[in-house]
Amino acid sequence: AHTTSNRKDAMQLLAGVKNIIAVVSGKGGVGKSTVAANLALALAENGAAVGLMDADIYGPSVPIMFGVRGQRPMMREVNGKGMIVPLEKYGIQLMSIGLLIDEKDAVVWRGPMASSAIKQFVTDVDWGQLDYLVIDMPPGTGDIHLTLLQTVPVTGVVIVTTPQTVALADAKKGIAMFSQAQVNVPIIGLVENMAYFTPAELPNNKYYLFGKEGGKKLAEEYELPFLGQIPIVQTIREGGDNGLPAMVSNDTITQEAFRNITNIAI
Ligand code: ADP
Repeated sequence: AHTTSNRKDAMQLLAGVKNIIAVVSGKGGVGKSTVAANLALALAENGAAVGLMDADIYGPSVPIMFGVRGQRPMMREVNGKGMIVPLEKYGIQLMSIGLLIDEKDAVVWRGPMASSAIKQFVTDVDWGQLDYLVIDMPPGTGDIHLTLLQTVPVTGVVIVTTPQTVALADAKKGIAMFSQAQVNVPIIGLVENMAYFTPAELPNNKYYLFGKEGGKKLAEEYELPFLGQIPIVQTIREGGDNGLPAMVSNDTITQEAFRNITNIAI
């Protein structure tokens, strides 16, 4: 009963949000944040109003990826309550723990504190009217995931994995979690990131550094929609570090890969 009432509250709070898409990965470092950021930008490209909630409390990357590190959001009074106003960059409404506190302070938080911070992203942030709220989830399958999925009416999850065995093993745990009766959130599909590398001087060659088509095979095994491959591209890494995500860079090939994901699934 507790869970139900939480969800109801969240639905009222996020009443202006039409679709909530959680981007998840079993393992850290597979490109979950990169995919979440570029998915948000790809959706906004079509004219949708899009927000990006960085729920990766222990490793917030949205401030760096969007080049808003050190900026602080404003407050606004809504129905007598002080609400945090998301920061807007490249047309996306952003919220991250890194925008509220010194990033290194959250690293030592225990689970309950991290979970309550996430709840505040729902209760205390004025998301307004959005077509999509993309949530960059923490890696893995822990308490924060359960809190979020039981609080927020998530429309569906996008699973990001690299093709290598260790990442796939963890992705399976994620699939199991979202399929559980306790959570039971629809899986929109699976993205295979860092699928291959093509050197500029050998444009027809693909090198499968982390193994070939591991994500695609996993999607087949679990009968999940396969949303596509994102290659390893130096500009993706550079853009991530420099506050210029691929979708707003001049890398048109990579942009097409991210656009395809939204075309297939969302
Ligand atoms: P996660 O959210 O899973 O921890 P990130 O999105 O932060 O992963 O990505 C980890 C690092 O890998 C970042 O430096 C990011 O820029 C880089 N990266 C992610 N995807 C790619 C890619 N397809 N090609 C090159 N670098 C990538």
